[in-house]
Amino acid sequence: MVSRLILVLGDQLSMDVAALRKADKTRDIVVMAEVTDETGYVAHHPKKIALVLSAMRHFAMALKKDGWTVAYTYLDDAGATRSIVGELMRRAEEYDTTEVLATTPGEWRLIEALNNAPLTLSMLPDDRFVASQTEFDDWAKGRKSLRMEYFYREMRRKTGLLMDDGAPAGGKWNFDHDNRKTAQPDMLRSQPMQFTPDDVTEEVLSLVEARFGKNFGALRPFHLAVTRPDALRALDHFAKYQLPEFGDYQDAMLCDDRFLNHSLLSPYINLGLLSPLEVCQRVEKEWKDGRVPINSAEGYIRQIIGWREYVRGLYMREGPEYPQRNVLNQTRDLPWMYWGGETRMNCLRHAVAQTREDGYAHHIQRLMVTGNFALLAGVDPHQLHEWYLAVYVDAYEWVEAPNTVGMSQWADGGIIASKPYVSSGSYIDRMSDYCASCEYSVKNKTGENACPFNLLYWDFLDRHRDRFARNPRMGTMYATWDRMGAERHDAVRDGAARILKRLDRGEVV
Ligand SMILES: Cc1cc2nc3c(=O)[nH]c(=O)nc-3n(C[C@H](O)[C@H](O)[C@H](O)COP(=O)(O)OP(=O)(O)OC[C@H]3O[C@@H](n4cnc5c(N)ncnc54)[C@H](O)[C@@H]3O)c2cc1C
Ligand code: SF4
Repeated sequence: MVSRLILVLGDQLSMDVAALRKADKTRDIVVMAEVTDETGYVAHHPKKIALVLSAMRHFAMALKKDGWTVAYTYLDDAGATRSIVGELMRRAEEYDTTEVLATTPGEWRLIEALNNAPLTLSMLPDDRFVASQTEFDDWAKGRKSLRMEYFYREMRRKTGLLMDDGAPAGGKWNFDHDNRKTAQPDMLRSQPMQFTPDDVTEEVLSLVEARFGKNFGALRPFHLAVTRPDALRALDHFAKYQLPEFGDYQDAMLCDDRFLNHSLLSPYINLGLLSPLEVCQRVEKEWKDGRVPINSAEGYIRQIIGWREYVRGLYMREGPEYPQRNVLNQTRDLPWMYWGGETRMNCLRHAVAQTREDGYAHHIQRLMVTGNFALLAGVDPHQLHEWYLAVYVDAYEWVEAPNTVGMSQWADGGIIASKPYVSSGSYIDRMSDYCASCEYSVKNKTGENACPFNLLYWDFLDRHRDRFARNPRMGTMYATWDRMGAERHDAVRDGAARILKRLDRGEVV
């Protein structure tokens, strides 16, 4: 019988991924390929490239050990093509078959490339998500607004997670109200688990150093997990040591603690090393066994079966053009400080420094520091989207684009966020210790030394008055602005114009 090619992409590293489940180990050939189109469609952080390549190589080894035949293309293989489709064509010729079984890729770019390939392709739904796309589309159909919270409740009912006889455990669906505590530096707070690179990873690190060493980001030290057993260890460590206070400190930021109680599991879940459901079930168990309070368990599970599922459903529903949206017509170039250029803004300096070193910043840093500043400063959302896609080790378009274009930049016109996530410096001051050691004064609302967020926040609202003034959730902001009076308005507008001019001239802000 003629064999088929079973495509396994770099973020489909799960033994039970749909295409592998339907394949026949005795005759089919698993195709995995490291190709330059994938390592280069944006200038990825070197740690991200190393993570994906090393995880792919380890997964291929695990497949072979399990009895599969794997046709694996290394990045430096002579005769290798640039693309996934190119590699499939090459293997099709080698194994004399045009039949390909694939699991639907997470990105439109690859879905379209595969659909256009001259191959006999069967594309199976990627069922590693809690909701199928059909379920999401059915939920979304006919709704005026697609609020995550309601979708999340459906997912709670579907999975039974934190449910008590059909009602939400603890009497509430959402404990976010309890999750806004500020954090104090704590030398004893546990940090995410670190792993020592083995020989396979070391080889990948040398390759990445040579080929991608000039990309933004530090390759070493490299301590990420690249196998499922290690990812499971990272989950276990998180559940035991960081989860109990996850809820309390979910929104907090500290200069000397990059991770606080965050799990750092997104790279492993997104690659397929961990399944989202098993992660949530483990978290629920910690709560059931009395080791974790409900606000932490619920807060964490909501991020995964709520936000993660919801942004994926939206990305697929909205189609390939979604990342191009720019409803607010923002056109400013991404400031150089996002690539490590000098800045006097302590919050931005910290967020970018840890992004460069770790390929990681937690959600509030992404949303309320780098995202907030870009939105207030009128940065082109597509440039920002490409930045997020490049610099984070967990970044894949299906999850990154809705978070950036939708949640953070309101460039989709409010599909995801009912109002823009913007704030002045006082939010950052409340949730972090950044302002205490900043060259700007968060208390100053106008003048040379005023925190740029303070000036740009009101200027943004003023610039976009026609669009937002009637938004019921923004009425009080406009009422406050109106009460400030003409003199203060002029000072804010002048101060904001000064900062924006400096950004445009490439001067330090
Ligand atoms: C502008 C912007 C860009 C982002 N880009 C990405 C990205 O490229 N890849 C990515 O996985 N996440 C992205 N996020 C969402 C979120 O910031 C990260 O999932 C989270 O910071 C990952 O770190 P963690 O594992 O320590 O998360 P934790 O705080 O421990 O959260 C637990 C898990 O919940 C999931 N999660 C939490 N929030 C979200 C969310 N908004 N959307 C989807 N999943 C979520 C992740 O799987 C995460 O591992 C982005 C958020 C913003 C505001
Ligand atoms: S004062 Fe403003 S710029 Fe400085 S850290 Fe605080 S919020 Fe950031």
